[in-house]
Amino acid sequence: MLARPETKRCIECGTPYDDAAFHYWEGRVANGPAYWSDRGILCSPRCSLAHHQRRAAEGTLADAPAPDPFQLTRFR
Ligand SMILES: [Zn+2]
Repeated sequence: MLARPETKRCIECGTPYDDAAFHYWEGRVANGPAYWSDRGILCSPRCSLAHHQRRAAEGTLADAPAPDPFQLTRFR
């Protein structure tokens, strides 16, 4: 199940989407998050890497890139 973007928190550390520390695509909040997975959005390269390593350790890495959660929202 894809985590819904309206939760709007980093799935690794819980940083809110509108926090100054959150990394956006091209640095613009309107462009959506710069990092995400099939489980939700990620605030930074650090959390993206932590998430990847955790999923690799769990053996739950996805075979394909996760769809952009904000694109999914637009088409709903
Ligand atoms: Zn984070």
